[in-house]
Amino acid sequence: MIFDVLTLFPEVIENYCNISIMKRAKDSKVFELRTTNPRDYTLDKHKKVDDTPYGGGAGMVLMPQPYIDAYESVEKIDNSITVMLSPQGQPLDENLVCELSNYNQIIMLCGHYEGFDERIREIIKPKEISIGDFVLTGGELPALCVIDAVSRKLEGTLGKIESAHDDSFSNGLLEYPQYTKPRDFRGYKVPEILLNGNHKEIDKFRYEQQIERTKSRRPELYEKFLNRQ
Ligand code: SAM
Repeated sequence: MIFDVLTLFPEVIENYCNISIMKRAKDSKVFELRTTNPRDYTLDKHKKVDDTPYGGGAGMVLMPQPYIDAYESVEKIDNSITVMLSPQGQPLDENLVCELSNYNQIIMLCGHYEGFDERIREIIKPKEISIGDFVLTGGELPALCVIDAVSRKLEGTLGKIESAHDDSFSNGLLEYPQYTKPRDFRGYKVPEILLNGNHKEIDKFRYEQQIERTKSRRPELYEKFLNRQ
């Protein structure tokens, strides 16, 4: 997997991918990370990437030329998808993450300020992805959400593939509650059933907890789960 990120702030992307599990996965070549800064593709001496909107209004709009030239400079490989991070896009969820993990290259366009000149969309025709119904100042955090969530699906990122096995959404339900040492913390005790070594009973307990949690916290998700059965 190659993650190519077009961003005015490459250090945000690179710094995040240089810690913990992301760093280990990158160092062991589970994925390759490349960043391209549209500011390096401007044609004027002030390296201007934005300008005021035609028709008036607040804020600055990202100009097409630096973005399109930066995009065209990215080496594309077979089975590649281009994604624009945008609050107007398809909401990112587990299904979309799985779908994205089947590509060999994800090229991501991060906006900033008031967002992209519409012609960037018209020319590149990216898939637009949103991380939720709220507006951030830039596309870097959304791009990192894509990178992090997709890389967890790639073999070699997590220590054991089972680590993701029971995660929330993997079977359509939220995960069961987890406990570690000590057995008793300030009078709050680990459920006895998790201590008895009977894995059949433990699995049953955990499944019931998943059902209970999903029903009460995410009724719409539970409804979907029931319809899938
Ligand atoms: N004016 C745009 C609108 O209302 O649709 C919002 C622009 S936002 C301030 C700047 C950039 O942040 C966007 O171009 C996008 O790349 C990113 N962004 C902000 N919120 C986002 C979200 N919920 N999901 C994905 N990207 C987002």
